[in-house]
Amino acid sequence: MNAIKNITIGHTERLNKPVGYTMLANLVNIVPFCLSIEVVRILFQTFNGSGTPLDTERLWCLFGILILYMIVMALAERASYRANFRGAYEMSASGRVALGEHLRKLSLGFLSRRDPGDLSSMLITDFTMAETGISHHLPQLMGALVMPLLAFLSLLWMDWRMAVAMFAALPLAMLILWASTGVQHKLSGGQIAAKIEAGNRLEEYLQGIRVMKAYNLLGDRFVRLRDAFAGLRRACIRQEALLGPFVLLSITLLRAGLTLMVLCGTYLLLGGELSLMTFVLFLIVGSRVFDPLTSALTNFTEFRYFSMAGGRILSLMNEPEMTGKRQAPADGDITLENVSFAYQDKTVVHNISLTLRKNSLTALVGPSGSGKSTLMKLCARFYDPQQGRICLDGIPMNEIEPESLMQRVSMVFQDVYLFQDTIRNNIRFGRNDATDAEIEEAARRACCHDFIMRLPHGYDTIVGEGGCTLSGGEKQRLSIARAILKEAPIILLDEATASLDPENEVEVQKAIDTLIQGRTVIVIAHRLKTIMNADHIVVLNEGCITEQGTHKELMEHDGLYARLWQIQEETAGWKL
Ligand code: ADP
Repeated sequence: MNAIKNITIGHTERLNKPVGYTMLANLVNIVPFCLSIEVVRILFQTFNGSGTPLDTERLWCLFGILILYMIVMALAERASYRANFRGAYEMSASGRVALGEHLRKLSLGFLSRRDPGDLSSMLITDFTMAETGISHHLPQLMGALVMPLLAFLSLLWMDWRMAVAMFAALPLAMLILWASTGVQHKLSGGQIAAKIEAGNRLEEYLQGIRVMKAYNLLGDRFVRLRDAFAGLRRACIRQEALLGPFVLLSITLLRAGLTLMVLCGTYLLLGGELSLMTFVLFLIVGSRVFDPLTSALTNFTEFRYFSMAGGRILSLMNEPEMTGKRQAPADGDITLENVSFAYQDKTVVHNISLTLRKNSLTALVGPSGSGKSTLMKLCARFYDPQQGRICLDGIPMNEIEPESLMQRVSMVFQDVYLFQDTIRNNIRFGRNDATDAEIEEAARRACCHDFIMRLPHGYDTIVGEGGCTLSGGEKQRLSIARAILKEAPIILLDEATASLDPENEVEVQKAIDTLIQGRTVIVIAHRLKTIMNADHIVVLNEGCITEQGTHKELMEHDGLYARLWQIQEETAGWKL
């Protein structure tokens, strides 16, 4: 039952129509059996030496019914086909949209924890699997169970001994299949894990190919990729090899029922307890009655995959969305009150209380791993803290509607993502309804206009996926243009000029200066020189605030900040 719920992604009612139509198609399939029994009976009457003339009128009539049957069959099959496939495709199309919508409402922290390869495999492969399960397999299996059941009931009425012989092995076959589901459960977990591992290794290999070439790691990394695929191959073979015998045994048992029935029929026939006519009838029905079931069982091993694929989608759909109904205030101080935050079980922010004043620049500094990025992400509600609360203009952030909060915040990080689209549209992501003139104005202010005009099609030049056709500094300036266009009152800045060449650095710095004027800015400073004039500097160490104040105050205090400053002064003098 759980597998059915998984495969239908929680919508078991979606099976009603497909199963109904498949049953109908299977039922209509019984008609030719009945007709052939009647034909055999008529021929038997004529040729058994009794001298009865051949009932041609009745034969023509049966022929007519056969034609009618073919028409009804075509219609029933068509209806069943449409119900199965249309239902399945509609389910996966609407399911994918619903999952995409749900992902949008999950915390960014949750999304960044998940492997993107895993999420895209869910949206593509898992839905395709569930779709195949609903369209091809589940209705067929459920519909196929009905035919033997009905046949059994009607044959019981004709001759219970023959009926029992024909169906004697069915419960045993079902029992074996049921027992195999335990083995399946164990194996498919390993098989799916191997599949995800192989996908991740492949993605790692493709994405890191530049670094691998640079460090001559291609051979080494390729071994990891090859091992992952070898693992997947082993898991697949193990799954098929161990489960195959269960399915084959069940199918053989079903077929063995026919042998048992023939033996029983011959015995009864010789003893004069069974008419030849009834025997022939059982032979005809027995030769076909298990066909839909055996063909559905051939795919039995795949059910576990379908069920696990649907289960993964369901568990993601059950992930709680970010809550909050209130509209975000236009602007205001950001206050942290006794905030603690842990990734899984590792606490990285300890009981921090802090006020980030409206329209001022606050810099977060501290050694690597001291919690600067985490604190900044908490201020943008990437995560909700486990303890304490964060308020914007006095309103707890977890009460603010996430999308309305996001409208108030712009982020400029080191890793800029550009979509495979025109430069113009990439800037327009800052504000959807911006006019071309506004986009150009933002680009000018972000020092992008000149380099954009040098591109072959200016603002209509397409940038490669991830922005791979632009330099680091250019991508950075485009992301600043986006943020300028958005005009959000709160700016989060991961000071990103450190890795740029001097010319780009000056341009990016100019763009940043334009962006942050008159806004509430939180900046993670890697080079202390750039934040000397910050209104407030917060020094973090191991997730705690060790000191805070202006540059002058902190230098006088002669603590961690003064030490970091001294180290940077010394390294600035280094020359190669
Ligand atoms: P900083 O920005 O000062 O370098 P971070 O806030 O990035 O520091 O990290 C603080 C600590 O949290 C580090 O020990 C880091 O390993 C850990 N950390 C950061 N991000 C994650 C994450 N997504 N999952 C688990 N631990 C994390």
